[in-house]
Amino acid sequence: MPKQLVFATNNLNKIEEVTAKLGGSIDLKTLDDIGCYDEIMENGSSFSENASIKSHFIFEKYGLDCFGDDSGMEVEALQGEPGVFSARYAGKHGDHSANIDKLLTNLEHLENRRARFITVISLIWKGTEYFFEGTVSGHIRHERSGNAGFGYDPIFEPEGFDRTFAEMSLEEKNKLSHRARAVEKLVAFLQQNTISKA
Ligand code: IMP
Repeated sequence: MPKQLVFATNNLNKIEEVTAKLGGSIDLKTLDDIGCYDEIMENGSSFSENASIKSHFIFEKYGLDCFGDDSGMEVEALQGEPGVFSARYAGKHGDHSANIDKLLTNLEHLENRRARFITVISLIWKGTEYFFEGTVSGHIRHERSGNAGFGYDPIFEPEGFDRTFAEMSLEEKNKLSHRARAVEKLVAFLQQNTISKA
């Protein structure tokens, strides 16, 4: 029987991405699957703290192996802003268009437009916490381009490409994204620890 693991999210895109990479070795459960309807406060001051808040919440309440993730955008010339405030940079949670407008305004007179996306995963596995990090570097365009994706995708051009994330198919983005890179590290760990210790 595959081992159960809770992903502290109900975001189906994230679940799908991790499930595809796991390839059946783990039985992945969502928050809904375990009957968890609490709002988990993401009020940490770093990505790892936020990821850790989610995994600890589940572990302490349900005693299950689990992981949580947190992601965002860091802009070099803005000392890492929007950082943990990525989802609510302009004030309202999830207002992606306003967040982009604010970022473009703040960068208007700055030459250095280097930025990166980052994902941190906190896994609690058999009572021990492990962290996995994925990043993708690039720069912020002066204008939006493309309609795919979400969040800051229309203004982020990854290094080595002349297109934004919003001009890529999901499949292409998922090969190089920060989330994909963190998830690959998580999956490698799980495969090693479920196969060799079965
Ligand atoms: P979350 O932790 O995955 O929910 O991401 C928090 C916020 O970071 C999102 O609301 C977006 O503003 C931004 N973000 C994270 N990942 C991406 C991405 O792949 N593309 C664009 N924006 C992202």
